[in-house]
Amino acid sequence: MNARASPAGGTRPPPPDVCRRLERRLRRETRGEVLFDRAARGRYATDASIYQIWPVGVFVPLDERDVATAIDIARDLRVPVLARGGGTSQCGQTVGAALIIDLSKHLRRILEVDPAGAIAVVEPGLVLDELNAALSPHGLWFPVDVSTGAQATLGGMAGNNSCGSRSIAYGNMVHNVLGLDVWLSDGARLELGPVRTLEGRAAKIAAFVRDLAASHAQTIAARWPKVMRRVGGYNLDIFDNQSERPYTADGEVNLAHLFVGSEGTLGLTRALRLKLAPTPPHRVLGIVNFSTFRAAMLAPQHLVELRPSAIELIDRIMIDLGLGNPSYRPLLERALIGRPAAILLVEFSGEELAPLRAKLRRLAEIMGDLGAPGSVVEIIDAPSQRGVWEVRKAGLNIMMSLKGDGKPVSFIEDCAVPLEHLADYTDALTEIFAKHGTHGTWYAHASVGTLHVRPILDMRRDGAAGGAGTMRAIAAEAAALVRRYRGAYSGEHGDGLCRGEWIEWQFGAEIYQAFRAIKHELDPIGLFNPDKIIDPPKMDDVALFRFAPPSAPRPYRTQPLSPVLDWSAWNVQNDPLSEQISAPGSGGDNTGGFAKAVEMCNNNGQCRQFDAGTMCPSFRASRDEEHVTRGRANTLRLALSGQLGDDALTGSAVRAALDLCVSCKGCKRECPTGVDMARMKIEFLAHYKARHGHTLRDRLFARLPDYGPALSRVPALANLRDRLPGGRRLSERLLGLSAARALPRWRADTFWRARREVAWASRDQVLEAGAAGGKAVVLLVDTFNGTFEPENLTAAAHVLHAAGYLVHALEKRGRPYCCGRSYLSVGMIERARDKAMQLLRALEAFAQRRVPIVGLEPSCLLTLRDEWLVMHLGEPAALIASNAWLLEEFLAREARAGRMSLALRPASAPILLHGHCHQKAFGAVNAILEVLRLIPGSQPRLIDSSCCGMAGSFGYEAEHHEMSMKMAELKLFPALRAVPEAIVVADGTSCRHQIRDGLGREALHAARLLERLL
Ligand SMILES: Cc1cc2nc3c(=O)[nH]c(=O)nc-3n(C[C@H](O)[C@H](O)[C@H](O)COP(=O)(O)OP(=O)(O)OC[C@H]3O[C@@H](n4cnc5c(N)ncnc54)[C@H](O)[C@@H]3O)c2cc1C
Ligand code: SF4
Ligand code: SF4
Repeated sequence: MNARASPAGGTRPPPPDVCRRLERRLRRETRGEVLFDRAARGRYATDASIYQIWPVGVFVPLDERDVATAIDIARDLRVPVLARGGGTSQCGQTVGAALIIDLSKHLRRILEVDPAGAIAVVEPGLVLDELNAALSPHGLWFPVDVSTGAQATLGGMAGNNSCGSRSIAYGNMVHNVLGLDVWLSDGARLELGPVRTLEGRAAKIAAFVRDLAASHAQTIAARWPKVMRRVGGYNLDIFDNQSERPYTADGEVNLAHLFVGSEGTLGLTRALRLKLAPTPPHRVLGIVNFSTFRAAMLAPQHLVELRPSAIELIDRIMIDLGLGNPSYRPLLERALIGRPAAILLVEFSGEELAPLRAKLRRLAEIMGDLGAPGSVVEIIDAPSQRGVWEVRKAGLNIMMSLKGDGKPVSFIEDCAVPLEHLADYTDALTEIFAKHGTHGTWYAHASVGTLHVRPILDMRRDGAAGGAGTMRAIAAEAAALVRRYRGAYSGEHGDGLCRGEWIEWQFGAEIYQAFRAIKHELDPIGLFNPDKIIDPPKMDDVALFRFAPPSAPRPYRTQPLSPVLDWSAWNVQNDPLSEQISAPGSGGDNTGGFAKAVEMCNNNGQCRQFDAGTMCPSFRASRDEEHVTRGRANTLRLALSGQLGDDALTGSAVRAALDLCVSCKGCKRECPTGVDMARMKIEFLAHYKARHGHTLRDRLFARLPDYGPALSRVPALANLRDRLPGGRRLSERLLGLSAARALPRWRADTFWRARREVAWASRDQVLEAGAAGGKAVVLLVDTFNGTFEPENLTAAAHVLHAAGYLVHALEKRGRPYCCGRSYLSVGMIERARDKAMQLLRALEAFAQRRVPIVGLEPSCLLTLRDEWLVMHLGEPAALIASNAWLLEEFLAREARAGRMSLALRPASAPILLHGHCHQKAFGAVNAILEVLRLIPGSQPRLIDSSCCGMAGSFGYEAEHHEMSMKMAELKLFPALRAVPEAIVVADGTSCRHQIRDGLGREALHAARLLERLL
């Protein structure tokens, strides 16, 4: 092979002419996507580990024929092949100088479900949560519940022998795979299953493994870790089980189990046959509170006797993080007794509730026997249980969002030790961290002795405080502990690059040679995922680091940049012991913090989720790595660090990666590390447009607040584009406005030109009332509502009046004040700043007197709370931001405080709510529901939708129309079609247009519905 381990221990790609031939042949002989440009390769050069290796190219097969052909071509050309699912591996097993085959886009069918036999057969690119959603009507699930279930694929889970929180009840992947259908490196396809059923080649392989294991039986018995959570190396023990939990309940030997956990090094999986489990109808939680961390670590060995379905640890640091979050605080406070040092979530599940309650009582008794009476809080109701599980997740997310170059690093994050040693092991490892000037937060699977902990290290630094050296020192000491306590060094996430070199240490030279023999027998030409498991590089080879330190052959350096927005909050460093952050701007980033904000993406892949939340609509519609937050962040990082060539930030690759980002801000809220791609897109656009100039269409969209009032004086002329035959086509050709779209209808009776029956208060009246603590607000008259739907503004005023408020409408002599949003959306930062400054000056006096600033258009009002804070607008911006409210947020707050009530009539139909993405990003959707619930008898339902697809101007752009409609069809349109009689509430102007355009249904701003029911 060409791409073998280099003398330095890294990997190097095949010669360029081979890469070119590979690309040509893939294009010619397959129907899949062939991605060989530098940016595409760069997006697949990383996974959720600290490593980065450039692949030879990326292939996204359309079907299994494509996969088989690609394997054949790669074998002909001697180019290694690396299968990839979600790319969420934490140890580097999904990166390599190989042809990456991304199976997650098209190979994700459920091939068969046998509910009676509790078996499913699936393709490898299927995501776990998608499978479970399909199984739910049968009362079944696939119980390997990894935390990454919304993005991890079954192929990747088998590759890593993944394990879920409930592994104590259900086992790991290896315990739940019944069979695999794989390609070997010579192109043969084999069905792997119970050995007694095998014939031909598969039977021969089984005989080979059996003989190999037999010849090393004594060493295997002596050296093999016995804990259930051993996932390192190959499963050579299939014929002579060494695990405390045998791979099969009846002792049957299954050859597929050899491939589980082999990290794609033995073959490429075409399909998986999975063992399903009945979904338990009941679950209960006992939260055990501990006064010391050690006590929490001593308890699990006793608690497992109760046969719980999970025991999960949350330590003090994580508890405090959870308490710091207003939405989790009440849930957590319910679960806590005083201020514990740690809690264990002990879950029981089963068919009947009564026996589970009995188990909770027994749990309390055991804790009493252990000297901690009254330490258990019972949580029976499902929503509260979900909340507590969420707290654990949220705590981890906040931990991962530490700003600065020191980050929690995965390399000893899943060692597994027998439960009787858990307390001594965690004590000793904590001391080791302190000795090396760092610390870690402990959490996760106490039931099986696998606790996650990641010391904070700065991988960009060399020398004594450098990441590489400290990582090795800690790894060596942790490994000695694991050996002392007869545990497994690799207990959940796999070996990859960070633990590969420890396989021989763990199993000894003899067994390692047996592993080598397995690889040679199954993949003699070393086609599949080279340098993993067999002959891995050193874990601390700095040449393979994503953020390579100065001593590396190609150190990671960013190119200087003057950002247009204020990114100084990211330009900081942290103290690995205290996690204290240095002052904004002190981090030494030559891009003012922009690069460090981009680098917050640790590739965990949560933005690839397809179902819950908002993030990331363009990925949901495209399933392309290029069009997901992670792909965008990686493209930006590579561009900023010069890895995509000179001036790449303003080049076509970054433009293409950001093109389908609809700036929904879903990632701002839902990305665990707070990657805010919408803001990054503004920064990018400013630089890109400075180099390439603005188009006429950019100007049209941006300057609407300027020309809108004038154009609305001649609506007949303004509406010609939609009236004249051929008008739409012409506008598509000349301006790039989609001919398939109607534009918002211009009208003469704008807010400014046709005053309605509203008793507006003057500026002075409102200021005076505000200063006296009276009920008064200033209503922001935004361009969109003011120009196209002035009824919404008057409706808001009527509602506010009915609630007893004076209302002053903020406008600028017959035209709107503009927040700057439309200019920001095309990267016209200076103009946006001018506009924002004008509005800021107009609002300042109201904010100083604490007169609430109320707005209707989510994207405009929330610009005051978001972008304004980084546009260098000065001190008043923060004051205004803290006093700016969406109408419903304001009403809900006032109702909660008992300052207002509304006498409303019941609605005539069910109410469906579509939240604007920015409302979701700012947690403002609950307030709308709260206000809609003021309507007697109403049970408003929030549509579980992502972006509607219109996203400001995005959906009007000819090249984006199809994508826009695809986004709407994912969830929103089907949900609306399902309830044709419903009243649809949507606060976003563009959301309402999308609904009208796509379904011919009228959606209302909540203000209008409330007004109707007054
Ligand atoms: C925040 C976070 C939380 C996590 N939590 C858990 C957890 O709770 N439990 C857990 O076990 N893991 C966890 N992981 C690790 C990871 O998510 C899991 O291992 C997951 O199952 C990997 O799935 P994937 O689709 O991303 O696989 P990938 O990372 O794409 O691939 C994993 C391995 O499988 C191989 N592979 C993929 N497809 C095939 C195929 N068709 N044929 C052959 N080989 C293939 C790859 O080459 C690679 O070696 C976590 C990771 C993160 C970032
Ligand atoms: S953008 Fe956020 S959610 Fe997506 S991979 Fe990066 S860190 Fe994870
Ligand atoms: S802003 Fe929205 S579309 Fe853009 S990356 Fe974030 S989640 Fe995706």
